[in-house]
Amino acid sequence: MDTRKDLLERFVRYTKYDTMSDETRLPAKHPSTDGQWDLLRALRDELLAMGVKDTVLDENGFVVGNIPANGSDAPSVAFMAHVDTSSACNGNNVHARVIGSYDGNDIVLGNDLVLKTAENPDLEKYRGTTLIVTDGTSLLGADDKAGVAVIMSNVRVLMENPSIKHGPVQVIFTPDEETGMGMDHFPMDRLKSRAVYTLDGSACYRIETECFNAATVNIGFTGVSAHLGAARGRMVNALTMASAFVSSLPQSESPEATDGRLGYYCPYSIEGSVESVRLKLMLRDFDFDGLQRRIDVLKTLSNTIGELYPGSRIDFSSSISYRNMQQANDADPVPLEMLMKAAGELEMPIQVGLIRGGTDGARLAERGIPCPNIFAGGYNFHSLNEWASLEAMHEAFRLVGQIIRCWAE
Ligand SMILES: [Zn+2]
Repeated sequence: MDTRKDLLERFVRYTKYDTMSDETRLPAKHPSTDGQWDLLRALRDELLAMGVKDTVLDENGFVVGNIPANGSDAPSVAFMAHVDTSSACNGNNVHARVIGSYDGNDIVLGNDLVLKTAENPDLEKYRGTTLIVTDGTSLLGADDKAGVAVIMSNVRVLMENPSIKHGPVQVIFTPDEETGMGMDHFPMDRLKSRAVYTLDGSACYRIETECFNAATVNIGFTGVSAHLGAARGRMVNALTMASAFVSSLPQSESPEATDGRLGYYCPYSIEGSVESVRLKLMLRDFDFDGLQRRIDVLKTLSNTIGELYPGSRIDFSSSISYRNMQQANDADPVPLEMLMKAAGELEMPIQVGLIRGGTDGARLAERGIPCPNIFAGGYNFHSLNEWASLEAMHEAFRLVGQIIRCWAE
C-alpha cells in the first residue's frame, strides 16, 4: 500500500468532520459536540472493517481498539490521539487544500490570509513536498487529526501484514481534549498498556516528555455594600480588594512574560461587584514543589489583602488540575528509551521539548503510566494559519511502526 496516499486520504477525510469541542457544554454533555460522535463512530467502524474485532466505542465517547499479539510476548503499548479541535477559532466546515508540490513561496490561503515563509521558517524544509492548508476560514485540525491518521495507517499496516511480529497494541481515540476535561471519563479498566504514546505533537522530530504541573485557584472577596452617599467608614469594596490583589502579582511571572522552563501566575477570569468578587487564577510550574509554593504565595497575599480591609472576608480554594508527566517517565524509563531506540534506528534527529500546557497523557501519567508525546506533523495549532506536512506525518507514521517493532524484539 502507498502509505503517503493512505495518510493523506485519511487525514483530509477526518478534517471534514465538525469536531470543535465546547467547554461550556461540559460536564452535562459529553462528548461536548455531536460532530465528535460522528468521527468516533466512523473510526470505530473503520477499525472493525480493518479486522480489529475487539473495538469498543463506549457511552462516554472513547474508542479503544485492541490488536492482539502475534508471536511476541512483549507488553501491551497504546497509541492515543484526540478527535476534537480547538474552539480558539472556527474549526467546523473545514476545506482542506492539498498542495501537491510546494514551491517554497508564500501561500495565499484565502479570506485575506497569507501563510508567509518569513513567519513560518519550517515551510522551507518542505519545498517540493505535499502540504495541507485551509482556505483561511477555519483551522485545519491537524491537531489532532494528523495523529488520528498516523495511528490508523499503522493499524492498517499491522492488519494487512501478519508477518510483522508485534505485542498487543491498543489504539485509543478521545473526545474533548482541548477543554482539559476530556479525560474525566477515561475508561481506565480498558487500558492494558504499560505505556501510552500520544500522537499530539507538532513539528517534525519533536517529542515532549514533560508538561506543566497545573493548579486552579479560586478566591472570593466579600466586601460590605453601602449607599454610595453614606459609604464613608462603612463600605468595603470587593472590587478594590480584588484589584489590589491582581496588581500585587509579579508581572515578570505571567504567561506573557515567560517561556521555556519558567512558570507563572495568570489571573484568568473575574466577575462581581462592590459586594463580592470571584477571581479565578491559573498557576503553572514544571516543579511540583514550585507549584505548591505558588499556591502558598497566593494564599498569604489574599490573607494580607483581607487584613488591609477590615470587615471583609476572603474565601480561598485551590485544586491541582494535572501534573508533570515526567515523573512517570522517571519511574518507568523504558517506554521513552524504546521511543529513542526506534528513532535512532530510523536515524531521526529527535528533539526533546517541554509542553507549556498539558496533554491527555498527563492525566494518565498521574497514575504512573508513561505517556511521551510524539509529533504528528501539523504547525500553527489553534489558528486559521494551521498547516500540515504530509512528509512530517509520514515520519511520525514510520516512528510509530518502529516503536511497535522495537517492543516486539
Ligand atoms: Zn492536541
